[in-house]
Amino acid sequence: MGEAVTGGCLCGAVRFRFDGPPIAQRACWCRDCQYLAAGNATVNMTIRRAGFSCSGEVASYESAADSGTPMRRSFCPTCGTPLFSEALSRPEVMVLRVGALDDPELGGPTGFIWTASAPRWGHVDSNLANHEGQPPALPK
Ligand SMILES: [Zn+2]
Ligand SMILES: [Zn+2]
Repeated sequence: MGEAVTGGCLCGAVRFRFDGPPIAQRACWCRDCQYLAAGNATVNMTIRRAGFSCSGEVASYESAADSGTPMRRSFCPTCGTPLFSEALSRPEVMVLRVGALDDPELGGPTGFIWTASAPRWGHVDSNLANHEGQPPALPK
């Protein structure tokens, strides 16, 4: 694999990096994500935790996702930037928020999920591999 991918929050207090190819890149229109992304879908990159490291203090909020899965969502306690989320049942993977990558060009989604929860004006690229709700589980 090539160079590490790096990112962090708006104020710079949190920095992270990871190695290894992403497992998935998706935009999510679930109702929870609309809160996180100021009304839009979140754009996410799923990666393996093994290649991930993070510096700086993060704050977290745990709740059940629309799928029913307990999730921990982490953000910068100073500037509020959404950073990543983790399904407590699948600790080997993490979902990074593409807005926190140093190079957002890396985060182009290959599909939209939870499209049935999008508002009528919400953008969904119909050329991609989309799901109305929770997509099938990713390979281990
Ligand atoms: Zn910050
Ligand atoms: Zn979502």
